[in-house]
Amino acid sequence: MFNFKDIIQYNPARKNSLWLLFPLGMVIVAGSFIIPSHYFLKEIVAFGVMSLAVFLVCDFFLKTRSYKTFLYLGYLFLAFFAFVKLSFYHQYNVPISSSALYVIFETNSGEASDYLSNYFNWGTYLLAFLFLIPLIFMLKGLFRKNKFQGTLTKRSFLEKSLLLLAALGCVFIIQKKFRTQNIPYATVATWDDYILAKEQLKDALAIPTSNAFKGVTSKSTPQTYVVVIGESTSRWHMQLYGYHRKTNPRLAEIQHELVIMDSVITPHVHTITALEKILTLADTETTKPSPNGSTIQLANMAGFKTYWLSNQKPVGLYESIPTIIGSAAQNTRFLATDDYNHQIYDGDVLPVLNEILKNTTDSKKIIFVHLIGTHVSYEKRYPKAFEKFTTPSEILKFQHTKAIEQTNAYDNAILYNDYILREIIEILKKEKGYSYMAYFSDHGDEVYDTMELVGHNEYHGTRPMFEVPLLFWFSEKYKNLHGFFPKNVTDRTYSLTDFPYTFASLSHIQFKGYDASRNVLDSTFVARKRIVKDSIDYDN
Ligand SMILES: [Zn+2]
Repeated sequence: MFNFKDIIQYNPARKNSLWLLFPLGMVIVAGSFIIPSHYFLKEIVAFGVMSLAVFLVCDFFLKTRSYKTFLYLGYLFLAFFAFVKLSFYHQYNVPISSSALYVIFETNSGEASDYLSNYFNWGTYLLAFLFLIPLIFMLKGLFRKNKFQGTLTKRSFLEKSLLLLAALGCVFIIQKKFRTQNIPYATVATWDDYILAKEQLKDALAIPTSNAFKGVTSKSTPQTYVVVIGESTSRWHMQLYGYHRKTNPRLAEIQHELVIMDSVITPHVHTITALEKILTLADTETTKPSPNGSTIQLANMAGFKTYWLSNQKPVGLYESIPTIIGSAAQNTRFLATDDYNHQIYDGDVLPVLNEILKNTTDSKKIIFVHLIGTHVSYEKRYPKAFEKFTTPSEILKFQHTKAIEQTNAYDNAILYNDYILREIIEILKKEKGYSYMAYFSDHGDEVYDTMELVGHNEYHGTRPMFEVPLLFWFSEKYKNLHGFFPKNVTDRTYSLTDFPYTFASLSHIQFKGYDASRNVLDSTFVARKRIVKDSIDYDN
């Protein structure tokens, strides 16, 4: 017999199911403060439908032994996702998305620590605490005999079927209308994409050669090239680019020896997504050649001895994308084993680089140096001797202690980075060989330059995050033998997406499909549309 009244009417037996509405209440109440108004209504409705689905599933088990188990699981499920949703809004003012999750999955690349280290503040703790309160009440019931059976009769088959149908209906609505609000779905789907993308990357890029490059030729004379990949270093804080503080004294000293590109951007503001584009032929998500190939593979195929010398932690739970790309090198050295919350100094790469260059058995070498650079936590990126900026910066948009301290620490880290780059150049100078050093940063950080924010994330994607340094140094021998570079190249607008073409040309490597117009130092260079975040025209 189907008793409709029994299903919709309040019944003491269902008393504990009401706790399932608590997370929804939190999303409404806390959300009204935290969630921006244009996302608010959709989030409420989406979470309401999800709560209803869980409620119906629990109702299905009402008066059975499994009811309590489902009740607790249902509550944990809803509370967890409400917490994730609210805390993410609290932190970033934007909905949690698959690209954010993608970055979080790349835990060992350090990007996740950007998300997570700032994540746990008093607001998040308070939120977590509030979600735990109902659990205390519910657990009290766990040890008590099941008293809340009420007057319900056992569910008929028809009733059960209807409940199940209604729950499925909710799931269907969520899938159709609220896919982006559905964190469990987004997580699973993103995770699948992530694993697949990672496998494809590994198959294509973690091997010494690539079918993407055909007809590779190069010079056979001795050559030593160093490509330095910086980290989180924005040109907005570099003296070489007009910053008011003297953050680049050592490079400024030899400025006449450098080619400093003024208008270069990165295609993404996260290490993993940026380096995938910068170091491989991939352009945007839609113009990813298959098979893809990296500059490291190209160097291998051109007969160079290749090195990947990294001061970033190589493996966490899963290999990070830069590690996958780097592992194509014939020699890999990972110097840092600590994560980003520890003191890691780039000075550690200098003796190793020296040692590699002393080895004279290989006449053609390319060394990729992946720095820790100016990655947060800034104050852990430079030794005490480089603590030069301690008083409030002369121009500071935000005059509070945190802004002053973070700006000073970032500028000190840039000062140390300046020292490292100069030392690398000095090591090459001593060699007196045919060599160049290329330096760029994967992306920059916003450090109170345009808004009240420290770090980088693509939602905000501010100019200091996209606008990166790119500079070159050439040895005397290189300059004499290579001939001249066209004049007035430094103001060319360029995206690091095209770096493989500049790299190939500088390293005298030819391959089928090489496009000189994408080499920023070539006389036939043509400025292209600069696409960021896969589809957005940066200059518009
Ligand atoms: Zn980075």
